[in-house]
Amino acid sequence: KLVSKKWKAKPTSIDLGDGVFIKDGEMAIITGPCSIESEEQIRKVVAHCVENGIRMMRGGVFKPRTSPYAFRGMGIDGLKLWHSIASEAGIKIVTEVMQTSQIEEMYPYVDIYQVGARNSQNFNLLDELGKVDKAVMIKRGISGTIEELLQSAEYVFSGGNEKLILCERGIRTYEKASRNTLDLNAIPILKAKSHLPVIVDPSHGIGIRSYVPQMALAGVMAGADGVIYESHEIPEKAYSDGQQTLDFAQSTRLAAWIRESFAMR
Ligand code: PEP
Ligand code: MN
Repeated sequence: KLVSKKWKAKPTSIDLGDGVFIKDGEMAIITGPCSIESEEQIRKVVAHCVENGIRMMRGGVFKPRTSPYAFRGMGIDGLKLWHSIASEAGIKIVTEVMQTSQIEEMYPYVDIYQVGARNSQNFNLLDELGKVDKAVMIKRGISGTIEELLQSAEYVFSGGNEKLILCERGIRTYEKASRNTLDLNAIPILKAKSHLPVIVDPSHGIGIRSYVPQMALAGVMAGADGVIYESHEIPEKAYSDGQQTLDFAQSTRLAAWIRESFAMR
């Protein structure tokens, strides 16, 4: 496979511009709400990122929701608004693309296209992202194997887009005490098998706010090249995933811990 270390030994480095990288040997921190909700919320999270030296912000404008009646996101207008505020602050945007028709309209406003767990094997979407000149982060499928994640990455890479990031976000197991089971094993295995950077998502991985920090640090120690986690000024009021979202004080602490842990690794 083209994404395998056998084909390319040198780790792939993702250059997002303005000195922002996702690469082996650095620790990427990406934070922000599950959903982009309002201009006020965007401004608050951008300010939080700036205060903590975090250069990448996550947030969904097209949300895959289990219930069709749940908040589905602000859409492309929300993304445009977000981009105008974030780019001024030097913050890069990580956001989910749900279907091929959104790729082009999103293109000027996104720095990393996120492929969500539910679309991890949407092969038409992966084919189209293979033709794009912009970074793509693929999340592991809800019941996806490591091999399936690598094959999904292969779709994009073989299409010509080598700016790829893998994300472990937990898998569905028989265990119901947590939302998902964060598969820490996947991190060293993916790093050994592939030259692509690997990011850990402890928020979706465990789904319980108070346990997110330790799972984030476990992911760092397991060898992740970055952490993506959910944060919000008032998590209890978040439109989605509030139960696993950190408030700004918790996020500030976690960002410092991530950096300290990485320095010790
Ligand atoms: C998200 O990042 O908010 C999200 C929907 O993630 P996942 O696709 O991993 O469930
Ligand atoms: Mn979420």
